Amino acid sequence: MRLNFLGGVGEVTGSCTLVETAEMRFLVDCGMFQGGHEAWTKNQAALAFDLRRLDFVLLTHAHIDHSGLLPRLCALGYRGPIHVTTTTAELLEVMLTDSAHLQEKEAEWRSRHRDARRQRPTPPLYTVSQARACLAQLRTVAYETEFRPHPALNCSFHDAGHILGSAIIDAHLRTGAGTRRLVFSGDLGQAANGLLLPPRHIDSADLLLVESTYGNRMHKTPEQTQTELHAAISGTLANGNVIIPAFAVGRTQAVLYALAGLARSGRLPPLRIFIDSPMAEKATLITRRHLELLAPEVRELDRWMRGNPPELQLRYTHEVEESMALNQIRAGAIIISASGMCDAGRIKHHLRWNLPRSSCAVLITGFQAAGTLGRRLVDGARNVRIFNDDIPVRAQLHTIGGLSAHADREGLLAWLRGFAHAPGRSFVVHGERETASGFRDEIKRRLGWTGVESPLQGEAYTLEA
Ligand SMILES: [Zn+2]
Repeated sequence: MRLNFLGGVGEVTGSCTLVETAEMRFLVDCGMFQGGHEAWTKNQAALAFDLRRLDFVLLTHAHIDHSGLLPRLCALGYRGPIHVTTTTAELLEVMLTDSAHLQEKEAEWRSRHRDARRQRPTPPLYTVSQARACLAQLRTVAYETEFRPHPALNCSFHDAGHILGSAIIDAHLRTGAGTRRLVFSGDLGQAANGLLLPPRHIDSADLLLVESTYGNRMHKTPEQTQTELHAAISGTLANGNVIIPAFAVGRTQAVLYALAGLARSGRLPPLRIFIDSPMAEKATLITRRHLELLAPEVRELDRWMRGNPPELQLRYTHEVEESMALNQIRAGAIIISASGMCDAGRIKHHLRWNLPRSSCAVLITGFQAAGTLGRRLVDGARNVRIFNDDIPVRAQLHTIGGLSAHADREGLLAWLRGFAHAPGRSFVVHGERETASGFRDEIKRRLGWTGVESPLQGEAYTLEA
């Protein structure tokens, strides 16, 4: 068997692993590279292998860094099935079409600016109609239901607790030498992140790929997070607004239910919350349709929200005009909007209006990559540039670290302790280079495992059958 690490190694975007055996060839994830100038080039150059010989694709979850190149894969000629969980398919419909819109816009911009001097139009990575065509290739399976993407492979998806529909892939491969169990963790959630169920434990594997996004860090506890959230909000609403940049899928819902918890316990007065992002609205509605996938406390909270609308007034703003009208509100509003790193989307308008006011608060709830507006705010900038205006930063800035959708170092190790024996071979993926190699050493030291590697992009490993 040969493993080709095509992306999502030594970094956290572009997840893609090509598995080749004597009998079959398949991909696990097909993610987009994001952030930085190289991303565009890397996405253009990705998927440079013989697509006609690809038998099927297995997808761990809907996040774009795991799914974002699927439409390109299909546009380049792949016609086979893409196996996903039922809820992942619902999210992909929203996310891949949205991603295609962005690709079309980016290509248009490039054609007008960057590539204009070379006098040639830049084609988008994929179009909206190509994204729709790709959605037709999805094959959905429920959690804990065995399926056979190939006569020699039995698979099932287990709940990974990361975002709605996220899955650990459990694959049993029959070879001449017997059966081999291949486990792909995908992204793993926190055991108690307050939103989803904890990741399912797996007890054995011959081959394991495990993520390491926060392999070098610890999150705060849910109680500490509630206390921080309360402190950041309670003094603000009387005279100002609270602005929360958040990723549309996962983070927005985690923030919403954390706020609901505070309102329900009476620690905060009745809240007026606006979700100002069309994609976040769709993701929230999908989440609220799948209460069975949420943690029992969250199911209970959701019931409370439905029964007590005056305690938590939740409004979705659809039209741009409605979004702009929010800028007239001087106090008492909590506005959750995207993008999560403040670089694009409607959040920029809300920051433009609320950052100069010392009575307002901005809550940072997620990782802010270098070079983004969110990162400049976290780093304490006194002035920032938004829409070509110099905006003074007078609002109170708070970083709430505990709402992450990823397990932290101890969370990952706890999941690995679920294995009764060390897997034959383990590969640490989906982490910045130093983080992944550090976590590899941690696994060896703390669990006593051998045969653990942290591969880099483009590397391939041949494993004996
Ligand atoms: Zn993810």
